[in-house]
Amino acid sequence: MTDVRIKRLNAAQEDFDQALAQLLAWDDSVDHQVNDAVRQILHAVRTRGDAAVLELTETFDRVTATTVADLEMSQERLRQALESIPRQQREALEQAAARIRDYHERQRQASWRYQDEDGTVLGQKVTPLDRAGLYVPGGKAAYPSSVLMNAIPAKVAGVGEVIMVVPTPDGLVNDMVLAAAAIAGVDRVFTIGGAQAVGALAYGTETIPAVDKIVGPGNIYVATAKREVFGTVGIDMIAGPSEILVICDGHTDPDWIAMDLFSQAEHDEQAQSILISPDAVFLDAVEASIRALLPTMERADIIRASLNDRAALIQVADLKQAAAVANRIAPEHLELSVEDPEALLADIRHAGAIFMGRYTAEALGDYCAGPNHVLPTSGTARFSSPLGVYDFQKRSSIIGFSADGASRMGRVASVLARGEGLTAHARSAEYRINDGSTSQA
Ligand code: NAD
Repeated sequence: MTDVRIKRLNAAQEDFDQALAQLLAWDDSVDHQVNDAVRQILHAVRTRGDAAVLELTETFDRVTATTVADLEMSQERLRQALESIPRQQREALEQAAARIRDYHERQRQASWRYQDEDGTVLGQKVTPLDRAGLYVPGGKAAYPSSVLMNAIPAKVAGVGEVIMVVPTPDGLVNDMVLAAAAIAGVDRVFTIGGAQAVGALAYGTETIPAVDKIVGPGNIYVATAKREVFGTVGIDMIAGPSEILVICDGHTDPDWIAMDLFSQAEHDEQAQSILISPDAVFLDAVEASIRALLPTMERADIIRASLNDRAALIQVADLKQAAAVANRIAPEHLELSVEDPEALLADIRHAGAIFMGRYTAEALGDYCAGPNHVLPTSGTARFSSPLGVYDFQKRSSIIGFSADGASRMGRVASVLARGEGLTAHARSAEYRINDGSTSQA
């Protein structure tokens, strides 16, 4: 295959900064047509509830139903799906779920408190969300792994009710997705999708209860709708195209690295795959592997488009420089395909998930290692983290003053309140100051 032309960059080149910035830029311009369409859909769902959901599901998914209740999959139906899928698939889902649960159990945060010497109690009460909505994409492909990765942390957090939505275009229900919902313990499943599903979860309809937070990936309509309803409900993030960055010392089988790059590129044309190595001969070898392996891939066209448009092979002076470039990219997935990944890890500051050593293919993390595959994209790993149990828990501050504490800190509050001109605040604090002149009732 000769029509793959992957960009080559060298960190030593004069205009490297500019070339890197250009490589990372992607078209995230707001599509006004999509925005308008989504606003109309959300308005319809907000004002007309179930009736709008039914109409829009017929329009976009070509599914006709008399009531929204007809679009709900019962727990019995989920169990049937679990029993109907091939045993191998069921076991794989169950094994993945067990590992994801085990990992996320360790993320659960507990309430805490401490006491001052004057008896004042301070702390934090941690509570799960009452209700979470989980969007599972279903337009062009089915994603049972997304069900596990989004629902299990919610259940581990103790969310009261997890409500999943998944479109079923032309009424085609994916049993593996329903089976994953059964394994993850999803409470209710509605076969609706797109912006109308996001609207139904955010505002509630006669049949679909409103949730407190909506998580899960989706296409441009879903992402735009999530952005619009943010504030009415919480959202996890707005995900950009998927990315992988591999740092290799030049001693991993080039075919392995080529396939790891493909594993992102096959997602979609905008996905980004980057390899950094100090070894120019190795970069050539990986490029040769890419050419040799591409024709064997089912999704060769998508991979080729993604590699031609967004991939790069970057030569650096050494692994230290590789880490510095990686930190500037802040990738969603970072493979450290080197002899001593622990040593390199010390230099890594920004990445959604870090895959340690030659054997740790990102694909394992996508499905069954245990950590979450919902990760910050587009450089947002600089300030955000993987989806986790903490996304389904919230915190309330606990403040309990003793009489002595109220008296001592009342003086401080009074000074600050008067400085801000807020007299009621000041007097409220002053009532509780014990200087012999005020009532202690
Ligand atoms: P989807 O469920 O996100 O979207 C399907 C829905 O889009 C339909 O039900 C319909 O309501 C709506 N829609 C389609 N055309 C429309 C139009 N013209 N106007 C209004 N609404 C319209 O499924 P999809 O389309 O297959 O997209 C899934 C996306 O999720 C992909 O971009 C995929 O890459 C992404 N994804 C990301 C991850 C991740 O972890 N980051 C995982 C899985 C999938």
